[in-house]
Amino acid sequence: MTTNIAIDGPAGAGKSTIAKRVARELSFIYVDTGAMYRAMALYLLRQNIEAQDTAKIEEICEQADIAIAYESGEQQVILNGENVTAYLRAEEVGKMASASSPNAKVREKLVALQQKLAREADVVMDGRDIGTKVLPDAAVKIYLTASVRIRAMRRYQELQREGVSSSLEEIEKSIQKRDEQDKNRENSPLRQAEDAVLVDSSEMTIDQVVEEILSIYRKNRESGL
Ligand code: C5P
Repeated sequence: MTTNIAIDGPAGAGKSTIAKRVARELSFIYVDTGAMYRAMALYLLRQNIEAQDTAKIEEICEQADIAIAYESGEQQVILNGENVTAYLRAEEVGKMASASSPNAKVREKLVALQQKLAREADVVMDGRDIGTKVLPDAAVKIYLTASVRIRAMRRYQELQREGVSSSLEEIEKSIQKRDEQDKNRENSPLRQAEDAVLVDSSEMTIDQVVEEILSIYRKNRESGL
């Protein structure tokens, strides 16, 4: 039996940074499920599919073979044999991922891949529905969030560091839209699992969040969960 940690939460809450660090501390594998939805979105964009065209998405998503590989410990996403990792963080890819991820066929395909990875290794997996749907038996479930303003500010600073000019207002609007889409969709909406611990990182440093999650993990392990 493998041991799994699920970290869910809205866009920009710091899930990937935190999950990566927790995985390193525990020698678990980090699995970024958002990157899988982004790879699917990239495929749909390349095929000129509209986000609203549900029938076409259902048909086309079968042709996207998505796999995960690791290079020096970093997750790489392989789309039909091509390493597409470098293209996944673009804003339009994120928007398309949010618009296409409610599709049942897309989710079925990617959830199966995620569950397979978690059966094969101890993982820290981040996403939207990991605690509620993908890994209902995860040893630790965290719902990581932060205020919209703080999440927008973090993204803005990240882009500034990368030398990309952007508008804080625009980022905030885009984050709000994404939250609405992810929380209000019928299929696997973003919500806190009943047995998940809520961590609000608005006023916390990365180190503090990592330490909090590690201490929940240790406590659960001591009590045999
Ligand atoms: O986390 P990230 O921003 O990379 O995710 C991109 C989009 O993929 C999200 O807005 C969400 O719609 C979708 N997603 C999902 N389920 C997951 C992970 C991501 O629906 N487990």
